[in-house]
Amino acid sequence: MTDQDRSKFTDRELGMDRAIPRRDFLNSAAMTMGAALLPEIDRASRTNSGEPQNRTGYNPPTSVDLRGSHSGSFEIAHSLRDGTFWKNAAAPERISEKYDLIIVGGGISGLAAAYFYRERAGSGARILVLENHDDFGGHAKRNEFHLGGKLQLLNGGTMLIDSPTPYSAEAAGLMKKLGIDAVALDKKCSDHDLYKALGLGTGVFFDKETFGADRLVVEAATEEGENSANVPDTAKLEEFLAKAPFNETVRRDILRIERAKIDYLQGLTSTEKKDRLSRISYKDFLLNIAKVEPGVIPFYQTRTNGEWGFGIDAEPALDCWALGLPGFQGLQLEPGAAPHMSYSAAGYANGGSDRFHFPDGNASIARLLVRALIPSALPGNSVEDIVTARVRYDRLDADNSPIRIRLNSTAVRVRNAADSNASREVEVTYAAGKRIFSLRAGACVLACWNMSIPYLCPDLPDKQKEALHYLVKVPLVYRSVGLRNWISFQKLGISNINAPGAYWNSVSLNWPVNIGDYRSPRSPEEPILLHLSRTPCKPGLPAREQHKAGRMQLLVTTFETFERKIRDQLVPNGRSRRIRSGARYRSHYSESLATRLWL
Ligand SMILES: Cc1cc2nc3c(=O)[nH]c(=O)nc-3n(C[C@H](O)[C@H](O)[C@H](O)COP(=O)(O)OP(=O)(O)OC[C@H]3O[C@@H](n4cnc5c(N)ncnc54)[C@H](O)[C@@H]3O)c2cc1C
Repeated sequence: MTDQDRSKFTDRELGMDRAIPRRDFLNSAAMTMGAALLPEIDRASRTNSGEPQNRTGYNPPTSVDLRGSHSGSFEIAHSLRDGTFWKNAAAPERISEKYDLIIVGGGISGLAAAYFYRERAGSGARILVLENHDDFGGHAKRNEFHLGGKLQLLNGGTMLIDSPTPYSAEAAGLMKKLGIDAVALDKKCSDHDLYKALGLGTGVFFDKETFGADRLVVEAATEEGENSANVPDTAKLEEFLAKAPFNETVRRDILRIERAKIDYLQGLTSTEKKDRLSRISYKDFLLNIAKVEPGVIPFYQTRTNGEWGFGIDAEPALDCWALGLPGFQGLQLEPGAAPHMSYSAAGYANGGSDRFHFPDGNASIARLLVRALIPSALPGNSVEDIVTARVRYDRLDADNSPIRIRLNSTAVRVRNAADSNASREVEVTYAAGKRIFSLRAGACVLACWNMSIPYLCPDLPDKQKEALHYLVKVPLVYRSVGLRNWISFQKLGISNINAPGAYWNSVSLNWPVNIGDYRSPRSPEEPILLHLSRTPCKPGLPAREQHKAGRMQLLVTTFETFERKIRDQLVPNGRSRRIRSGARYRSHYSESLATRLWL
């Protein structure tokens, strides 16, 4: 048992004996490869009966387990990376379908590529999108629940339309064509004031392991969102700090960092200050420039996790200034980006974009794209009805459609066709289950994960492969948990909780959005979804190493561990009683990661 698995409660106390759907999502046995050598086949004749996406009832958003890299989606790519794939594989079956364009990756980039290509090439353009997951959307996936018979949605990945920089003409133009007006939608559909009207604000959960005492302290009501620590005025901040498990020095230093207008870098120009701040971490700024007590650090440690996937020890102070973290108010830094800032920090320093959260995050954008590409697969005609529309998965890869989306299909090789008379063609090979298929197109767009491209196209120049290999994905886990009601949250006066030292750093009641026929819960007696997030990382290491360590952590985490953690924080023996009595939130007030716990 690892530290991660350890709990103060027995399995029975945690309710682990109560059946919920589960599975180990990254421990599944490696998929075996291999296919019989067959002559060229007409794959279409087998499509309708053979492909999982054509089976009755196929609807991945309602799945009850991991929606990210689910079992069956990554094993082929990993064997390609490990050099074992082609050793075990038979020759691919050549299929006769012909396309103008094949796109690898069915995320927003891949779907947008299909949209733009058809716009240029005309409605007759034949396009195939290959996607290794069981659903389209890439990171923009949705979690779909039917709590008490009512549809409730949460983003399974990308949360909202939001960019550090204003959208490019292409992206803004595409959104307009899809009918998305972020400003108008936000005004009409987002209920920013619901929780505030109910008197709910932000809570901070201080855990014993990090702060010496288990304590939930409620801050003043804020508008919405996670990781928010906005405190409206000094008196309320003082009240909050008085209740927090800090000694007097730490309290005084936090108050100073949050409120005092002190120029800690006196004598330097704004440009010189920015340069200095870009070369040190926020943690170093607090400790060595603002000279706070070390006991202050845990309070701020995870403030940057939601944005960058690691804490303030690895994030430059200047980036934290752009993100609005405190301590800089007396430095008189001029607005605007500066050299050495990260892309997103520089963008935020210059203003950022308009924002809107669909109930399923940016999955609605992916769905609007699919509707535009294959109208029969997603009935309806407005940006508002897309939210409740049901995807006809059996229409995504139909023989008679010029545009097809083939799910559960991992591209394993992309190369220029070898034979001379087809030199203007691309040969794309993909694996679906245990079979390997090969087909041709006029062109191919790789809209998949950059670090996998060198394995698909080993002939790329070494320098390009090196650059693609450099990338590391940020491990960021979102979980959605169904609650029968949120009366306990009402009693505690909180709609979201920051938990700097806990397994899940943030827990929020679902964003209230009413769009089309979709209605968010308004009464605490109604079932609701909770959104939780965790960013596994290893403080103390450089940023990239922290991401690698976090990914390794995820690879060895079982679904059961996540379930236990959810129960340990949210439900444990005690926790619901404590919440009901309003006495305090347990050591782990909330942790969730299961897409469908019904607590
Ligand atoms: C948890 C999370 C939250 C995020 N929040 C936001 C947000 O709020 N706002 C925002 O703008 N952005 C957010 N992002 C960033 C998000 O990744 C991008 O906005 C956008 O969705 C990326 O789209 P994409 O198509 O470029 O890549 P992806 O969505 O990654 O799509 C690439 C697709 O290619 C597939 N693929 C990879 N290799 C192969 C292969 N060999 N064969 C077939 N298919 C393959 C992948 O499975 C994937 O579906 C978030 C990301 C994550 C993970």
